[in-house]
Amino acid sequence: ERTIQQIAAGEVVERPASIVKELVENALDADASRIAVAVTGGGTERIRVRDDGVGIPPNQLPEAVAEHATSKIGDIDDLESGVGTLGFRGEALYTIGAVSRLTIRSRPRPEAYGDSKEDPSDGDPSVGVDADSGAEITVEGGEVEEVRPAGCPVGTTVEVEDVFYNTPAREKFLKTDATEFDHVNRVLTQYALANPDVAVSLEHDGRETFATEGNGDLESAVLAVYGRDVATSMRQVEWRPTENETKAGSESGAIDEETNAPGADDGDPVRRVHGLVSHPETTRASREYLSTFVNGRYVRSSTLRNAVVDAYGGQLSADRYPFAVLFVEVPAETVDVNVHPRKTEIRFDAEAAVRDAVETAVERALLDHGL
Ligand code: ADP
Ligand code: MG
Repeated sequence: ERTIQQIAAGEVVERPASIVKELVENALDADASRIAVAVTGGGTERIRVRDDGVGIPPNQLPEAVAEHATSKIGDIDDLESGVGTLGFRGEALYTIGAVSRLTIRSRPRPEAYGDSKEDPSDGDPSVGVDADSGAEITVEGGEVEEVRPAGCPVGTTVEVEDVFYNTPAREKFLKTDATEFDHVNRVLTQYALANPDVAVSLEHDGRETFATEGNGDLESAVLAVYGRDVATSMRQVEWRPTENETKAGSESGAIDEETNAPGADDGDPVRRVHGLVSHPETTRASREYLSTFVNGRYVRSSTLRNAVVDAYGGQLSADRYPFAVLFVEVPAETVDVNVHPRKTEIRFDAEAAVRDAVETAVERALLDHGL
């Protein structure tokens, strides 16, 4: 049993950055508007993720860390299309609890208890009397302890200590603290850019790495994570299908709300490409700063990356890559996201159309600025 648990853990929580990814996705799923991540020792000693999301009622804390526990009714289509909630089949907290010392402290939002906002426990006796102050649960190497009352603000704080202490073999594969932190930083940067309406912050060994404002402005998020020089070099990208193509769908009459979700009826293989790309002189020797998101989710895609690079034509020096934060919106049923927790590979049904749209979108953005 323990061995199976540990193998499963290796799949989901390969390194500190994969734990951060799971915890941040949980916070986003919980409707957080602030997510504060603090790690020590590159995340190998301690990881703390604090959010102001909906929270977990005390009586549901044991469920949250149980095997195959998920409050998210994700059917398999949901998983395959990569839309809906971000959670991976209720495995994350369970497996993190198996390889570390995990503490979850949470207090639910008052609105979770109906109209009785003054006395949350009054609305639903089953939530437990501590719902108005908070409760916590600890899992140590797979052993779940009792729920205890704990005063805390609304939201959830997940603390992971002695990461991987229960898997000596894996501990050997961890790189230096600096390398592990680099992975954490990269992961969190993608979430910060993908969610400019959420205030995302990162702290390493007590020092702030970045903090976005969460004001919904992508430029401000770029400024926070990449700094002023990069932010001022950014050009706006905005592309939609041509009017004729778009009209073909909407002219056919009223949209049937039952069968046609808004925007899902027009048959355009690409609905929108938008975001920011850098001036061709603001580049790095790494692809890492060329970030692409499909339907809001960070993806690595050579199709998208090549389309961006090609749009620059001969303007990039050899082996240099621009900064980009590019959002591509396509109908969910036309993408295939590999849902393996360690991968973010994606396949498009309309690969050529996606490629053309992205290249055109970026070309126009550069042209608009006389480049
Ligand atoms: P999954 O995300 O696939 O559901 P997890 O193991 O990551 O599985 O989380 C288990 C459950 O714990 C979630 O379904 C959710 O109900 C609850 N949960 C975890 N993290 C949070 C959080 N930050 N805020 C609110 N609820 C959470
Ligand atoms: Mg999850």
